[in-house]
Amino acid sequence: MLLTESLPSFAAELEQLLKKEGDAELAAQISGLKIVDRCRCGDDFCASFYTERKPQGSYGAGHRCMELEPDPGMVILDVVEGRIVHVEVLYRHDIRERLLESLP
Ligand SMILES: [Zn+2]
Repeated sequence: MLLTESLPSFAAELEQLLKKEGDAELAAQISGLKIVDRCRCGDDFCASFYTERKPQGSYGAGHRCMELEPDPGMVILDVVEGRIVHVEVLYRHDIRERLLESLP
């Protein structure tokens, strides 16, 4: 499931936020990102999703987090070896509703 197809406006938003941070490399990944699953934590403010399969344990070496500044909400990217693997999205009901629809 391509991010640009399931959440087109959020994909565009992410790309803009990354460009604003000056991270052209990550911005260039957005158009190819796939949503493999949504976060199953059950928090009603959580709209996070995985763009690579969830690891067994932690992400390990080569992992970094990148906090973006959307308005509204919160977005934190997990990046492993330069690839976006998880997009933590909080306090975004618009996105949560779409995710729950496509990944019940
Ligand atoms: Zn969650």
